[in-house]
Amino acid sequence: TLPKPRQPELKTALPGPKTAEIMARDAQHLSTSYMRPYPFVPDHGEGVWLTDVDGNTMLDFFAGIAVSTTGHAHPHVVQAVQEQITKFSHVCLTDYPQEITTSLAERLVKHVERPGEKWRVFLGNSGAEAVEAAVKLARNHTGRTHVISTMGSFHGRTYGAITLTGSKTKYKRGFGPLLPNVSHVPYPNPFRPPLGSTPETCGQAVIDHIESLFVGILPADEVAAIIIEPMQGEGGYIVPPADFLPKLRALCDKYGIMLIFDEVQAGMGRTGKMFSFQQFEQYGDVQPDIITLAKGIASGLPISAMLAKESVMTWPVGSHGSTFGGNPVAAAAAHATLDLLEGEVKHPGCGESLMENAAQVGAYIMAELKKMQAEFPFLGDVRGQGLFIGLEFVKPDGSPDGKLRDRASLAMFGKGLLNLDCGEAVIRISPPLILTREEAETGLKIMRETLASLN
Ligand code: PMP
Repeated sequence: TLPKPRQPELKTALPGPKTAEIMARDAQHLSTSYMRPYPFVPDHGEGVWLTDVDGNTMLDFFAGIAVSTTGHAHPHVVQAVQEQITKFSHVCLTDYPQEITTSLAERLVKHVERPGEKWRVFLGNSGAEAVEAAVKLARNHTGRTHVISTMGSFHGRTYGAITLTGSKTKYKRGFGPLLPNVSHVPYPNPFRPPLGSTPETCGQAVIDHIESLFVGILPADEVAAIIIEPMQGEGGYIVPPADFLPKLRALCDKYGIMLIFDEVQAGMGRTGKMFSFQQFEQYGDVQPDIITLAKGIASGLPISAMLAKESVMTWPVGSHGSTFGGNPVAAAAAHATLDLLEGEVKHPGCGESLMENAAQVGAYIMAELKKMQAEFPFLGDVRGQGLFIGLEFVKPDGSPDGKLRDRASLAMFGKGLLNLDCGEAVIRISPPLILTREEAETGLKIMRETLASLN
């Protein structure tokens, strides 16, 4: 059991002089593609708190885009990284096995394997690489070429991944031609049901739509895979209706299509279960063929994983690899993260495990936000599971209000709450999974004050 981190006082006099100076140099020398939503330059972190170079301490409600699972500089993670880096920091997993990555793979598959069904793991460095690996494997295994993805999805920025990505034209404009043989279908968003459906029928409507493509437009026997986020992240933190994933699994079974779940953002305990698709197991068979993981897997060290059923991972020796993939220092951080997620190591004030904590603190935040929704009519929707929560801002006619969301986001930042937008008009709440109820209250207080000031 580790010491409880202190709760520092929020200090915000932004932007301070050091922040301004570094931001000016950043604007001179770093890629013109980087976004800078507000003036923040981190200096150090502890738990759910980040302190900037001018000494302003902020509460972190976005965790580096759902990455810093165990918060910042978690002593258990730091120790694991230090121990490994003094042994060796690279040999190359593509050529030689390493105990630390072997045991990591064994640990990851335990969360998905069922009796009589073995899984295998490919390790990379980023979410996009895991997605690329998943699509390469699905094509290689099925001998088919076509991939179906969803509108509003995000799968990464490499060529294959941006092709699959179904949101924001800025990701694609000027970069084409993209990967051939990729189609997009609507995502079953109960708040904005597609295809003339209702919140209750949108899952079936999307299934029917996919099947209608198979009649004439796109032969099903040319479709290698359907890739989907079981809960959509960048698209707006959207939870599909309960019947959708079981129906999608059945559709893939019917046509011999590989089902790929992109768990890069919602996976690794964030929703209160190891993988977000497992939230739907109570409604039917939702076991995918391939899973992609990254972000929260190693508390911020770069490592990703593509998990596949053994019967599917049939690509030949030497056909895929990576120089850095499965880096042992990052793998050590992944082990330490799993220790805390699974509850093998307890974090003070977070119950039996970080997964359990995510479920409990998430439910508390959700209940409080629902109360705010009843009070503020511009909060159109509050949705999510565990510490994967989206807050959608709407105009009086119900259409998305991106401008109001931007104002809210900036105002929350000004009060000391680091937050990040997503979708058209959504603020995502994706804090470290070590967030205590007390810390959640601090964040909710800032949110409430901000929302009241928008009226
Ligand atoms: N898939 C999903 C669901 C994501 O949210 C992201 C990143 N936002 C990616 C893939 C790409 O991950 P990375 O940026 O590590 O390449």
